[in-house]
Amino acid sequence: MEYPFISLPEQEVTWPPPYQLRKSKRAKRLQLQVTPQKGLEIVVPYRFGKFNVISFLEEHKPWIISQLLKIPKKTLQAELPTNITLPAINEQWQVRYLSEQEGGLRIKVNNPNKELLIQGEEQLFLPVQQKLKKWISTYAKQSLLSWLAYLSQETGLLYQKGSIRTQRTRWGSCSATGDISLNSQLLFLPPNLAQHIILHELCHTRYLNHSKQFWALLGKLDPYCQQHKQAFKKAESYIPAWFTAKERLRTEQPKQEENAIMT
Ligand SMILES: [Zn+2]
Repeated sequence: MEYPFISLPEQEVTWPPPYQLRKSKRAKRLQLQVTPQKGLEIVVPYRFGKFNVISFLEEHKPWIISQLLKIPKKTLQAELPTNITLPAINEQWQVRYLSEQEGGLRIKVNNPNKELLIQGEEQLFLPVQQKLKKWISTYAKQSLLSWLAYLSQETGLLYQKGSIRTQRTRWGSCSATGDISLNSQLLFLPPNLAQHIILHELCHTRYLNHSKQFWALLGKLDPYCQQHKQAFKKAESYIPAWFTAKERLRTEQPKQEENAIMT
């Protein structure tokens, strides 16, 4: 697949921006918080019911953008996540860190509760990041490969073997023998974009090039093909900072007044 990851200019804010949800026993209503360490956080009262995150963000768009613009992009944190959102399959996972007296680092997956437990004595950024990335890759095998199988059946475009990779440069690929490989990071994209890539690779099982016929076929399967192609120029911004960070960024503790809180 030829849509590369493209880095965004330093100060650009993408919409909707990446965010974290944080439950709070003290909060009485929904709050927004922007810090250099955590970026945008939505503080949710402990017993708050379901709400539409995107329209809540939309309501406060000018404030959020003005606050995010104040954060130099380099310091946009690479903190370990307390929450992993997988928009492609409409799932949200909580991550809990249980530090223990002893024991090696391990991850426990609690499927029914959509919860990941990180356990172990030492919980350093890089080893934990590796565990989480590995889980995402395993989870992508279940979810993205069954999506691939489903779309193959729907479209009648047959492939040989599906696999998951986590590459920096490609969202997917299709070999001459019809083996399709998908990038685990597709899970972080909106469903329509993830599906666009899967359809793109399936079309390669018929045309192993980007000829007119190839685009005509993809355009038939994905009526918004052009918009989706365009959207990939910004797709990198959907990948959370913790996933791509090569190390935890050591930022100074902010002074209190640097933490913007919307009330
Ligand atoms: Zn292609």
